[in-house]
Amino acid sequence: CDDRRDPNGGRDCCAAEPMTDLPPLREVIAAHGLSASKSLGQNFLFDEQLLARIAAVPGDLSGRNVLEVGPGPGGLTRALLRAGAKVTAIEMDRRCLPALAELGDAFPGQLTVIEGDALKIDHDALFEGEPYAILSNLPYNVGTALFTRWMGGEAWPPNWTSLTLMFQQEVAQRIVAQPGGSAYGRLAVLAQWRGTAKLAMKVHRSAFTPPPKVMSAIVHVTPAAMPDGVSASKLEQVTAAAFGQRRKMLRQSLKGVPGALDALETLGIDPQRRAETLDVGEFVVLARALST
Ligand code: SAM
Repeated sequence: CDDRRDPNGGRDCCAAEPMTDLPPLREVIAAHGLSASKSLGQNFLFDEQLLARIAAVPGDLSGRNVLEVGPGPGGLTRALLRAGAKVTAIEMDRRCLPALAELGDAFPGQLTVIEGDALKIDHDALFEGEPYAILSNLPYNVGTALFTRWMGGEAWPPNWTSLTLMFQQEVAQRIVAQPGGSAYGRLAVLAQWRGTAKLAMKVHRSAFTPPPKVMSAIVHVTPAAMPDGVSASKLEQVTAAAFGQRRKMLRQSLKGVPGALDALETLGIDPQRRAETLDVGEFVVLARALST
């Protein structure tokens, strides 16, 4: 990248590379023959400034453990390493491993790469009980499954300290949605029950190679500290039933959930309301009433 030698010039790709002499990501892709695979949800980010901004979302990462799912050629990974993080990255595509090994050599002792499917790996075990932040430009085909896994389960609080995740914008909006709209549903209740979920930034489709059909957005979630006596599976049962028939009144949609109609009456929740009018707190009291 010649602009690096020009004190008055400097493209984005060079401006963010003063610390380590890494080749531009496009060169890494070409050198390792990493043509993007659709089935693996591969849409790569090359803009080093954008990647640095994403890595900055959870705050200072210096010396902190980070889990990255799907490092691919290592764009976000290098931003995390430059921020001083100790990164453990899970990548399913073994074609990416040589490029990631080169990156590891440039940041000795900071990068561990696990080859495998992130859905099948115990993430907590990778950090031996230590806390870790999660950052990922998620493969779209497994993003929601990973998110519900990180937010779900009965054990709480989790070992992860924050989630900073790229989703399709429509999914990101469903996570941060407020009651009353069509985006509000199971994902919003789950995310906002157990954490604080914010839309950290929108990312234009043109930032990716190849560009996906839709826009993307980064969601940042920090976990709520307090366990509140509600069973995650009970809340999931209630929201699945309620939003499974979201146009129906609760007295109809919750018919199949044992005790739900009585609980609505006890709690003073009008059974003629529809799921999308209940706020997260109302779903939580309903699930708590059914958990006991
Ligand atoms: N982090 C890179 C970036 O930002 O340019 C690549 C992101 S790309 C959207 C998603 C990555 O996840 C790909 O490298 C893909 O091979 C990987 N991947 C897909 N499914 C996976 C899975 N189940 N477990 C781990 N990695 C996976």
